[in-house]
Amino acid sequence: MVENKDCETPEVSKGLNFVEQIVADDLKAGKNGGRLNTRFPPEPNGYLHIGHAKAICMDFGVAEKFGGTCNLRFDDTNPIKEDTEYVDAIREDIHWLGFDWADREYYASDYFPQLYDLAVRMIKEGKAYVDDQTSEQIAAQKGTPTTPGTDSPYRSRSVEENLDLFERMNAGEFEEGSRVLRAKIDMASSNMHFRDPIMYRIIKHPHHRTGNKWNVYPMYDFAHGQSDYFEGVTHSICTLEFVPHRPLYEYFVKELADETYCPRQIEFNRLNLTYTVMSKRKLLQLVKEGLVAGWDDPRMPTISGMRRRGYTARAIRNFIDRIGYTKIEEAMISVSLLEHAVREDLNAIATRGMAVINPVKVVITNYPEGTTEMVEMENNPEDANAGTHSMPFSREIYIERDDFMENPPKKFFRLAPDGEVRLKGAYIIKCTGVKKDADGNIEEIYCTYDPDSRSGLPGSQRKVKGTLHWVSAEHAVDASVRLYDRLFSVENPSAEADKDFRELLNPDSLVTIEGVKLEPFIAENARKGEKFQFQRIGYFTPDYDSTPEHPVFNRTIALKDSWEKAQGKK
Ligand code: ATP
Ligand code: MG
Repeated sequence: MVENKDCETPEVSKGLNFVEQIVADDLKAGKNGGRLNTRFPPEPNGYLHIGHAKAICMDFGVAEKFGGTCNLRFDDTNPIKEDTEYVDAIREDIHWLGFDWADREYYASDYFPQLYDLAVRMIKEGKAYVDDQTSEQIAAQKGTPTTPGTDSPYRSRSVEENLDLFERMNAGEFEEGSRVLRAKIDMASSNMHFRDPIMYRIIKHPHHRTGNKWNVYPMYDFAHGQSDYFEGVTHSICTLEFVPHRPLYEYFVKELADETYCPRQIEFNRLNLTYTVMSKRKLLQLVKEGLVAGWDDPRMPTISGMRRRGYTARAIRNFIDRIGYTKIEEAMISVSLLEHAVREDLNAIATRGMAVINPVKVVITNYPEGTTEMVEMENNPEDANAGTHSMPFSREIYIERDDFMENPPKKFFRLAPDGEVRLKGAYIIKCTGVKKDADGNIEEIYCTYDPDSRSGLPGSQRKVKGTLHWVSAEHAVDASVRLYDRLFSVENPSAEADKDFRELLNPDSLVTIEGVKLEPFIAENARKGEKFQFQRIGYFTPDYDSTPEHPVFNRTIALKDSWEKAQGKK
């Protein structure tokens, strides 16, 4: 469902997607007293990524659309992997995307007492039992989708014994892995999740919120639906891998719900992107092993990484809006679609300026020494209100080394001996000679300028094929730029089962260039979050490492999709 690939302005998709349709129908039918309450349920065991952004846009978006509310619920049922650093990062990322949960910030750990009470009640009603087997033994008895499982030898324990053991599990009397609490459902069920699923396991690790209060922790399946219920969630929207869990979700919720209110699980297709891994386990590995500079490394598919790189929240939301939501497992979305949305938004908002990445000096021999004149530059031709800024021009300037060729091929419209080019916003210059070092490398280029050709003068109408960006040498500010490319060199890193995903990293995903020459206006405005287009080069934003003394810029994205071109795909 890719829409409006080439549209110029952000557009809200028309009509309702299938989830919105279900919600609209439920509201119309007056279900749950006409209430709409969704939730976004991240586990605080990593930073959010672009896949989570798809879920966030759905959970918060549908609530906004129909006047309902969306809770933020931290699904913190596994203390071993969870941390408050992640809680804080998750909050920041959701706010940055433009969504708010007001005072509805909840934690599955808030419900540990109620979940424990429910487990005790189920034991008393003969619906749960303590199993003393190892996880291997339990797995071996599970059976297969076509053959029934085998009952645990502990399945028919007395209620008293189960109650006593469960209490002692929580009191810390037993080791991790020595016992679990299981629901007594049906070891022959065609749904594997019904074959006496585990409700509680022993974990002796302090929890980031409840400390050492608990020694037993509920499994996802025993926590999620009930948490939805305790919070009054009406529509519990998640991704397709939870379809087979839905009957169990409903089974446990039924222990609590009645006809007047029951949460409902709805699943949509998850986002997979080319050249990207989205598994939190793998992302954590990249961070822990120092293969990237942190969760917010600008090459990471995390929301914080994209923000640091210069992606805008609007670009991400437009992208998600265009790919849409379906019930069909989509193999891969091209990362080019995301990049297209980023270029489209930056084109509309980025301030234009000049920077020379790989400089060579040009001396304009007939321009008076010691003179500086200011030329006016448009800040953004896409935005009539963006205004202009002035930029110094002088006798010595820098241009890109690539923009000069001593022996150019035909159709080289940049600078060459005896040839003319226009310096954007300033004069037409003509190359009269070069100076080389002992190895034959060009050190300086000599030119003359046509004083009548300055922008605005009649002589500027003269036809010249090429226009170059440039920076006045005397006024230029030195900076570093970080050029980013895709983190992985293969389209689907997760499909290469015979290879460790770390072998598939693109060795050229980060190239740092020093000695980049900035026009002063860019250096003066190099504040966090500012977006620039370096003319003819790409979109850049100051990195968090940037200082006024030494500006550091991230290239958010090149002006054109050179990767696809290089692959022969366009
Ligand atoms: P984990 O393996 O740790 O469970 P997870 O990516 O599922 O990883 P959660 O924190 O459980 O992480 O995810 C929170 C919500 O985000 C869930 O509702 C999940 O369905 C959704 N989500 C996660 N990944 C994607 C994705 N790639 N596309 C769409 N939604 C996603
Ligand atoms: Mg999950």
